[in-house]
Amino acid sequence: MALVNSKKMFEMAYKNGYAIGAFNVNNMEIVQGITEACKEENAPVILQVSKGARAYANHTYLVKLVEAAVKECPEIPIVLHLDHGPDFETCKACIDGGFTSVMIDGSHLPFEENIALTKKVVDYAHERGVTVEGELGTLAGIEDDVKVEHGAESYTKPEEVIEFVTRTGVDSLAIAIGTSHGAYKFKPEQCTRNEQGILVPPALRFDILEEVSKKLPGFPIVLHGSSSVPQDYVKMVNENGGKMPDAIGVPEEQLRKAAALSVCKINIDSDLRLAMTGTIRQFFNEKPDKFDPREYLKPARANIKEIVRHKLKNVLGCAGKADECK
Ligand SMILES: [Zn+2]
Repeated sequence: MALVNSKKMFEMAYKNGYAIGAFNVNNMEIVQGITEACKEENAPVILQVSKGARAYANHTYLVKLVEAAVKECPEIPIVLHLDHGPDFETCKACIDGGFTSVMIDGSHLPFEENIALTKKVVDYAHERGVTVEGELGTLAGIEDDVKVEHGAESYTKPEEVIEFVTRTGVDSLAIAIGTSHGAYKFKPEQCTRNEQGILVPPALRFDILEEVSKKLPGFPIVLHGSSSVPQDYVKMVNENGGKMPDAIGVPEEQLRKAAALSVCKINIDSDLRLAMTGTIRQFFNEKPDKFDPREYLKPARANIKEIVRHKLKNVLGCAGKADECK
């Protein structure tokens, strides 16, 4: 099947208590690792491209890589989504250039300006069958050009969501309930430590999610910054010359709980980066004589595939759901 927008996926995800994985793509191996897992697990998927990815790999290359995945995986629905669209022009370029979904991130703007910008993108997108994600509230952490210091983040205000969704016409809403971008989601002082000395992060604000859901029944909610930063991969990085002390993410049980509620899209990027980097570091450490990129990119791609498979089955709950999302 051809690329689809997110409408049917979110409808089914909401109804049946799961979430669609939105994974960031930057090169061929990442696209392949993700989509091979989704194909084998019969899972719908959102492949998302950030402004940074477009700057790195070039818009055309990314679109063509995703089109190749669509051709290789005809049995699963795939969305091509712009992650953190910074302005109308970037959203327009992606809509005109083959994307089936875009995010316009006006979360840093005053409320009225966020509404005006988001509505402008929605009007343009909907005329062309493209779905739009908006955002209220800001996440801490770093993702490409989006940089917010810990302490400067702000939770979504539930009293704003009805007006925002009604006036803009967005198809989904990203909210801030304590997730954050990057591999250092919480400062050590925000956490406790378990017996092994590993940081235990504070719980997500499910009370905010609940309030938002009550105000917007049936409406798809999105969580950004939802990697779990698997400690096995942090260890693999650190044992092979890396330096990522106190890297920490959102516990998977909390994401599973969110997926069973109104959260229909969960963004995961850092976990795939860690799988790729850990694998390559270990390869180089163990085989310093090797220099053929295929030899180290192959196991990296295989581990991306396995971590995505794990997410589909055990965190998102969308394995086996491809058919109902078509
Ligand atoms: Zn994000």
